[in-house]
Amino acid sequence: MKNDLNRRDLLKAAFVAGSIGLLPGCRQETTGPTQSLGVDYVEGEPLPWINWSSNQACRPAERLAPATEESLVELLTQTSGSIRPVGSGHSFSALVPTDGSLVATDLLSGVISTDDERQQAEVWSGTRLHQLGPALEAHGQALTNLPDIDYQTIAGATATSTHGTGVSMGSLSSLVSGMTLVTPKGELVQCSRENEPDLFRAAQCGLGALGVASRVVIDTVPKFDLVEHSSFENVFDILEDIEAEKANNRHFEFLVFPHTSIALVIRTNEADESTPRVLTPEDPTAVYQIRDAYQSLGTVPVVGDYLYDFALSQGLDGEAQVRSGASHVVLTHDRVVRFREMEYTVPAEVGPDCVQEILDTIKSKNIPVVFPIEYRYVQADDVWMSMFYEQDGCSISVHQFADEDHRAYFAEIEPIFWKYGGRPHWGKLHTLDHSELSKLYPHWKDFLAVREAVDPTGRMLNTHLKQLLGV
Ligand SMILES: Cc1cc2nc3c(=O)[nH]c(=O)nc-3n(C[C@H](O)[C@H](O)[C@H](O)COP(=O)(O)OP(=O)(O)OC[C@H]3O[C@@H](n4cnc5c(N)ncnc54)[C@H](O)[C@@H]3O)c2cc1C
Repeated sequence: MKNDLNRRDLLKAAFVAGSIGLLPGCRQETTGPTQSLGVDYVEGEPLPWINWSSNQACRPAERLAPATEESLVELLTQTSGSIRPVGSGHSFSALVPTDGSLVATDLLSGVISTDDERQQAEVWSGTRLHQLGPALEAHGQALTNLPDIDYQTIAGATATSTHGTGVSMGSLSSLVSGMTLVTPKGELVQCSRENEPDLFRAAQCGLGALGVASRVVIDTVPKFDLVEHSSFENVFDILEDIEAEKANNRHFEFLVFPHTSIALVIRTNEADESTPRVLTPEDPTAVYQIRDAYQSLGTVPVVGDYLYDFALSQGLDGEAQVRSGASHVVLTHDRVVRFREMEYTVPAEVGPDCVQEILDTIKSKNIPVVFPIEYRYVQADDVWMSMFYEQDGCSISVHQFADEDHRAYFAEIEPIFWKYGGRPHWGKLHTLDHSELSKLYPHWKDFLAVREAVDPTGRMLNTHLKQLLGV
């Protein structure tokens, strides 16, 4: 097999293979959705809330969207029941659901001010990342890194230590240098490294448990352009050369297809002014064709993996797909196929062994999964509840289509993450509770003490947070 595969040709090959599966009698049915959301739309009842991946839902007594900081303060002062802040609903875990008041900060949106000397911007907490990129660009600024989508709010993304990839870049929480919070008692508090430092360290990745953020001060860099090259390559060659890949690319990641030796490798580096701006359109639904290919070929007894790997390997020509332009455009992608995700961050140096064991397990246990596994690097930080606290991390994510049952698959893989000392992403699926999580975070007790001080009655806790924090 040639080392490089072209994305377009691979998908063509997968499409042909997938078409075989459309012949009567050839294709296996998907499992179908297995989780009931437990809430329906009922006339006269408050509207239910459902997250992006449709695995979390609730029927809050009230859904509130304050348009000013003053009305947010009033809301927290004049009500007494339980309350949960919500961003764009892009967490897979149950951080948001409540039967009390659900507070969205969508109307608190936009850039408040920028400071070129300090390279910082103060932004309203409900600002979506896709609004923030162009708004900062207009001020000559940018975020140094972004996650692979830009639908999240800045408050929601920082509340879970959301990250992109790049060995010299931390998560979005590590870029926060100040925050204005309305506490559960209705006090408006500004915190930073100098002012209320314990509250600040806790709130940088605060799980929405310490109050409702109204503003965030975030570190920026001068605006810059990037060029992204993505190509299909042999994953085992990449793993052998991983130290060079990490060192030689500003952003490096790969998405490996289970049951094959093929990965989509993405290298993204700074572009200079002479780099032409190219935005090759992506097909965010291509993964359905891969599923068709697997269901028609990969499930054939004994030789299935070989046939599937072979089908995906057809039409290799080594051409990389290129995208270039403003950093906020190049770093983020469309995700329209609904899925469920579990992600753990393991120490960077054990990342290759961990992903290898995951791939071997999928193969040896013949787990019927096609969704690619994402592999990224993130720099260590000093944020108390960050998955990267004092540890350069390798974040590995496993996914399953939302119309299939992810549970058996995730249950096979999760113990592998534990074996390598992994910390779960707060916004993604995992089964750990406070007894295990407390051992992974040196500042666990400090976080609990700050939480107890700002919210002694626990009005910001829902069932999931109680399990996580042991409250
Ligand atoms: C398709 C997809 C792709 C993703 N890609 C990545 C990725 O590349 N990297 C990564 O690390 N993660 C990724 N995630 C996970 C996602 O970034 C996190 O779950 C993030 O927290 C979601 O932000 P949100 O705005 O949707 O917040 P929500 O999910 O609505 O809420 C998340 C948390 O933030 C809190 N919160 C929201 N607003 C406030 C506020 N104003 N004040 C205080 N707390 C608040 C909530 O209470 C909750 O605890 C992805 C998720 C999806 C669905």
